[in-house]
Amino acid sequence: MIGGGYVGLVSGACFAEFGTDVAIVETDPGRLAALREGRIPIYEPGLDKLVADNVAAGRLTFGDDIEKAVQDAEAIFIAVGTPTRRGDGHADLRYVYAAAEQIAKSMNDYAVVVTKSTVPVGTGRQVSDLIRRVRPDLDFDVASNPEFLREGNAIGDFMRPDRVIIGTDTTRPGGGERAREVLRRLYRPLYLIEAPILFTGLETAELAKYAANSFLAMKVTFINEIADLCEKVGAEVHDIARGIGLDNRIGRKFLHPGPGFGGSCFPKDTLALVHIAQDAGSPMRLIETTVDINDARKTRMADRVVAACGGSVSGLTIGVLGLTFKPETDDMREASSIPILHRLAAAGAGLRAFDPAGMTPARPLLPEATQYCADAQEAATGADALLVLTEWNEFRALSPARLRDVMKGDVVVDLRNIWDPQAMRAHGFRYSSVGRP
Ligand code: NAD
Repeated sequence: MIGGGYVGLVSGACFAEFGTDVAIVETDPGRLAALREGRIPIYEPGLDKLVADNVAAGRLTFGDDIEKAVQDAEAIFIAVGTPTRRGDGHADLRYVYAAAEQIAKSMNDYAVVVTKSTVPVGTGRQVSDLIRRVRPDLDFDVASNPEFLREGNAIGDFMRPDRVIIGTDTTRPGGGERAREVLRRLYRPLYLIEAPILFTGLETAELAKYAANSFLAMKVTFINEIADLCEKVGAEVHDIARGIGLDNRIGRKFLHPGPGFGGSCFPKDTLALVHIAQDAGSPMRLIETTVDINDARKTRMADRVVAACGGSVSGLTIGVLGLTFKPETDDMREASSIPILHRLAAAGAGLRAFDPAGMTPARPLLPEATQYCADAQEAATGADALLVLTEWNEFRALSPARLRDVMKGDVVVDLRNIWDPQAMRAHGFRYSSVGRP
């Protein structure tokens, strides 16, 4: 498993739990040192025990020696990052190609080289060409096995997936059957629980991942726009979400309004799909618009806080609850909190922030003057306004009466709808949320 981040570490540990021997290669010295010392460098519920159990059982090892890890491996997974390339919105594939080159130099026998990273259509074939160029002598296959796990529920998603997609090069002699056989064996435990396993061509598997994430991002954006309309016409967005979500054709998930989607996947994958589609001469205007609406939403959310504070936040202190892009993760990549808090700081607000898991990764990304607090109560203390940016469960349990006592002002802007509007108003707050009258 090349890459020991969210995807590589979780899938490596889960494959080991299936009974497979897994060697995770990680080049970041900090991450590797942590893993070797038995510390989990990311926040993911249940991962510490899963890793510890499989290390103890001798099935899971960590190192930085790719050659050693790759020797005699039957399947070699590439699970490195594919961030947005600076300047043009395409996916940056430099880590994928660097890993592929290292793999090519290190392989000694037939293996399937599998991209688990989210990569644009055509990357699998490029990886294949690259390996063949470096090692014309080698017998190998490439495959695409995009990962659909969600941070915060990653182990459950991996162990009980809605589906697994495996794309192989069906144009090769043998139709990619040898690669399919290796991956079928690897995923055998999932056959026992009857998880659907879809075998496709390479390009199909690659595109399916972008299609899935873009569809979900579009769904979130749709409910965000319905929420805006609700505010204008006096309707209740959660009742609408339930009312439409109970229709099986629509489904209930991803209909929660908020400050716009963020995270390590949706923003970069929607943008990458826009470029993949444009380059292919088949532009996707739905996704282009989704990206635009979502970007603009973050600015509008900051302006909403300013409006709630009476038109100016200059000289005011804002208590901020939650920084990560969603609860149960420490991931700050593309979190909505970043643009929102920068805009508020630029407008003259002082920020007192608390997040249960994301404060360390948040520091380099948020306005420099942000004060980091020990808990939610401390963030609210002395604040003129309180802003909820991530729906961590522990925030739901806060006592409004106690918050009212420690705050200086009475403004609460709840961009995740974690509190009941009537109850908050009964406690004397000027409370606003998203899509609720
Ligand atoms: P990450 O940045 O957390 O992890 C990538 C890791 O790979 C890093 O620790 C990095 O040091 C390491 N690495 C880079 N080059 C290496 C090399 N040559 N050898 C060894 N290690 C190397 O990224 P992530 O969140 O795990 O995402 C990885 C891929 O999976 C991305 O394409 C992402 O889009 C996709 N994905 C992510 C998620 C998610 O929820 N995070 C879900 C599904 C798919």
